[in-house]
Amino acid sequence: MSLFDGDRAEMIEVLKKKEIKNEEVLRVMGEVERHLFMPEYSRRRAYEDCALPIGFGQTISQPYTVAVMTELLFPQKDDKILEIGTGSGYQAVILSKLGCRVFTIERNVDLGRRAEQIFKTLNLRIASKIGDGTLGWKEYAPYNGIIVTAGAPVIPEQLQNQLKDGGRLVIPVGDKKSQTLIVVDREGNNFKQKEIDGFKFVPLIGKEGWKEIG
Ligand code: SAH
Repeated sequence: MSLFDGDRAEMIEVLKKKEIKNEEVLRVMGEVERHLFMPEYSRRRAYEDCALPIGFGQTISQPYTVAVMTELLFPQKDDKILEIGTGSGYQAVILSKLGCRVFTIERNVDLGRRAEQIFKTLNLRIASKIGDGTLGWKEYAPYNGIIVTAGAPVIPEQLQNQLKDGGRLVIPVGDKKSQTLIVVDREGNNFKQKEIDGFKFVPLIGKEGWKEIG
C-alpha cells in the first residue's frame, strides 16, 4: 500500500469517464506508480489529469494523452515499439508493462539518464539512448509501432521508413501551440493517415523536427 493508491484509482475512474476503454491500458496505468516519475515538487499532483513539469522545460504527458496514444498504438505482447521523447520514462514503462519490447530515445541527457535509473529500479528491460529521435533508431528497425511524444512540424520520413509492414506510427503534428494526433498505418509502401484533433505537446526538436526552441 502506498500513500497514492487512492489517487491512482481515482485517475483510472477519470480515464474511464473520458472514454478510455482498453482494459489492458487501464489495468497497467492503474498499477504503475506515476509519482515516481516526477521530481518532488510535482508529486502532490501526480494523479491529476494534467501534464506536469519534470524539469529542463519539459513535462510528463497528461494521463489521458498517454492513454489515448497507447490505445491508438494498440500494441500487442512482444511487439517491438520505438518511443521518441523518453522524458520521465512513464510512457515507456506503460508500454513495457503491456509486454512490449521498448526502445526509447531522449535528446536531453539529464532526463534520459534519470529515466534509465527508473527503468533499472523497476527492473524493466527497456533499451534507451540519448540522441535525435527524429532520425529513429535504425539498428533495431523495423518496429511494429512508433510513438512520438513531442509535437512535430512534419512526419519525419525516417520514422515512417522504420515501420514494419502492417506497423503503426502515432505522432502529434502541428504548429508549436496545438497539434493533431496522426495515426499512420504502413501497408507495403503505402502510408495511410488518420487524424485526431486537439492535443498539446512540447516541441520535437531535431533534424526532421523544429530547430532549437525560440
Ligand atoms: N513520453 C514522456 C513525455 C515527455 S515530453 C513521458 O512519458 O514523460 C517530450 C520529450 O521529448 C521531452 O523530454 C523532450 O526533451 C523530448 N524530445 C524533443 N525532441 C526530441 C528529439 N528529437 N529526440 C528525442 N527526444 C526529443
